[in-house]
Amino acid sequence: MRRACETQCTTTLDVVEVLLARENGFCFGVKKAVELTEAAAETGRPVHNLGQVVHNPKISQRLAARGVKIINDPADAAEGIVVIRAHGVPPKVREQIEQRGLECIDATCSLVLRAQRFTKQLADEGYTVILLGTPDHPEVVGLVAYAGDNYRIVETEEQWKKLPKMKRAGVVSQSTQPPWAFTALVAHVATIAQEMKVYNTVCPVTVKRQVAASELAQQVKTIIVVGGKNSANTRELVNLARMQGRDAYHIEDAKELQPSWVRGQERVGLIGGCSTPMDTLIEVKERIEALGSTEPVPA
Ligand code: SF4
Repeated sequence: MRRACETQCTTTLDVVEVLLARENGFCFGVKKAVELTEAAAETGRPVHNLGQVVHNPKISQRLAARGVKIINDPADAAEGIVVIRAHGVPPKVREQIEQRGLECIDATCSLVLRAQRFTKQLADEGYTVILLGTPDHPEVVGLVAYAGDNYRIVETEEQWKKLPKMKRAGVVSQSTQPPWAFTALVAHVATIAQEMKVYNTVCPVTVKRQVAASELAQQVKTIIVVGGKNSANTRELVNLARMQGRDAYHIEDAKELQPSWVRGQERVGLIGGCSTPMDTLIEVKERIEALGSTEPVPA
């Protein structure tokens, strides 16, 4: 975008225009998890997050500044409060927290709780649970604990094409998987199972965010995606932009921006994952604008 120089120069400046996606900021599940942890920290008692409360390093730093510790096992907390993160946990972990006499604050997102209920229901009804997800993702670790002994985790077409024929298949998904992958998996399972039951547990909030990323990709050549490197929904936004032939860069904060990504561009798209705070996005926006503008030419 070319803009007239306001003072003391006779030429115009090249200024990069930053287009923000129409969906940004925390989703309701992340907002609740962060608020519950902050409220726990205000009690003055020792507060522990079981794993990163959400996959965003800035949020972890912010909570650490309030004295919140991250632990990986309830046994690591001697006293106080343990907050279960938005991704949920296997039931035995919740039991462990209670057995140790610790106060448990459950910040599992309501949509993840719903997916856990459906997974258990499928297992109880005798279906082989087919779970679309990343095996070591904490949400998936929690979900399979409800799937009984008869389940398969698949993440790619190559993997689900190897599923054997089966009598009864029940299909569910990790919340942040792309809807097109879930649809493709369901279509395939319909060809190998005599009976099939499907619960669509893809999170509608992440779907909206993915639609917003696609719309943004139609307007720019380059998209900056901001969010934790281990955030599944953020990585999905990067994949989506790349699938549309865009240059997509995944960063956690403004310091990682490279001038070569934005310089000379008329417009750059900007979107954050569901656990990226708005203030981080604003910092990135300002940094893109600073890196993308040319120096004023003195009169
Ligand atoms: S992305 Fe969806 S499922 Fe995950 S915490 Fe947010 S609202 Fe809940």
